[in-house]
Amino acid sequence: MALKTLRKLRAATTTTTPKPPRAADGDVLLETVSLTKTYAGADGELPVLAGIDLQIRAGEVVAPLGKSGSGKSTLLRCLAGLIPASSGTISYRDQPLTGANPGSAMVFQTFALLPWLTVQQNVELGLEAQGVPADRRAEAAVQAIDLIGLDGFESAYPKELSGGMRQRVGFARALVVEPDVLMMDEPFSALDVLTAENLRGELMELWESGQFPTRAIVLVTHNIEEAVLMADRIVVLGSRPGTIKATFEVGLERPRDRNAPAFEDLIDRVYRVMTGRAKETRIPGRPDGIELDKRTTANTPLPVASVDGLSGLAEMVAHRDGRCDLADLADDLGLEIDDVLPLVDALELLGFAKISDDDLLLTERGTAYAGADVQDSKTIFSEAALGTPLVKLITTSLRQNAEGTLRAGFFRDLLAHHYTSEQVTQQLETATDWGRYAELYAYDADPQEYRLDNGGVTPAPQS
Ligand code: ADP
Ligand code: MG
Repeated sequence: MALKTLRKLRAATTTTTPKPPRAADGDVLLETVSLTKTYAGADGELPVLAGIDLQIRAGEVVAPLGKSGSGKSTLLRCLAGLIPASSGTISYRDQPLTGANPGSAMVFQTFALLPWLTVQQNVELGLEAQGVPADRRAEAAVQAIDLIGLDGFESAYPKELSGGMRQRVGFARALVVEPDVLMMDEPFSALDVLTAENLRGELMELWESGQFPTRAIVLVTHNIEEAVLMADRIVVLGSRPGTIKATFEVGLERPRDRNAPAFEDLIDRVYRVMTGRAKETRIPGRPDGIELDKRTTANTPLPVASVDGLSGLAEMVAHRDGRCDLADLADDLGLEIDDVLPLVDALELLGFAKISDDDLLLTERGTAYAGADVQDSKTIFSEAALGTPLVKLITTSLRQNAEGTLRAGFFRDLLAHHYTSEQVTQQLETATDWGRYAELYAYDADPQEYRLDNGGVTPAPQS
């Protein structure tokens, strides 16, 4: 694990000397042409990115934005040269990448610090990989530590630090190599709201002040507000395969005011594309964009939404006569619109709601579900959940098994062909929640085993 991290870091932060001349604003630093990335799966190649044409220019912050699983991390790893393209080209300063991008450094969501090294040593790591002599390393690290507001913490170990301070180390370690392009993979998403907001502000101030030589930032995020707050250009990725659905030039003065009408207007426009409300952007990969009989566990992941959450949303919409504007609803609830998206996807996938014009509209089935008593709502939910590939897969597999039990590992292995292990866990957690509530199957955490729920599916004992 630690070694893997180290290798990842080395690859991500390795740069060659000498440094190229400073690029003028607008110069293309990074470019992908028809970039495609596929992963090998059980039933053939699974396309993750398809036909991505993207340019990153000096002077700009670009935010690839998309839901979980849309291929953002894959795109970033391709840009950093950590994984090769399946087809198409990726160039840095007009040179096709053949390995780690010499001009980039990466900030990871999970900080990826080495626990046995101090802050100072963690920051020096990237320079060590470049063969920079010890005294210069120390000097550069002190500067980076200073720049990012970590002075006083040089000799602390990661476990002594708060999440915000840890991610500061992540930033310092990337900035110390003076990358031409700073790449960040959801760097604020593991932090609490206030800490994240504070760090975003500090980073943007630093960027505006030009105190470090980095010429472009690629910020991967699933958070619409974060993208509008920080980016000059937002590139919205659709899912399965990831394609560029839309590009937005932000063009707002910094620091940006979240309450300014132009800010809110842009959020709304991006939001529409993200939820597929903009007509031209309906894409395969959204639950309602795929015909029922064509849905598979690979092309139709379960949205990460609990039964409680989606029932709550259905009831709220029912209260508003079965129709409401989602942005308004999120606002009323004091939620970020991104928080509501998985619930909306879940309602659509279950056939409980549709997006119509600008509103979320309950279907007949959704209205019945929202108004039903507990038993009826379970029956309705159970029917709907059986229309989702993973719940169906678990249920039918269990029904075909003589004992009516199967280890979770069985489904894990099946899903591992299409999802990262973190996503597999999320998929199974959601399927467990849904299946339990629907009384289709039960799950025992101890032997990690699914078994058919006795609620009428197993044959009654003969006597
Ligand atoms: P994001 O960062 O937008 O959440 P990722 O780039 O991590 O998305 O993953 C995109 C999709 O690619 C995932 O849904 C998963 O199915 C697939 N994927 C990612 N990494 C692998 C891998 N190493 N092997 C197989 N499939 C993968
Ligand atoms: Mg990711």
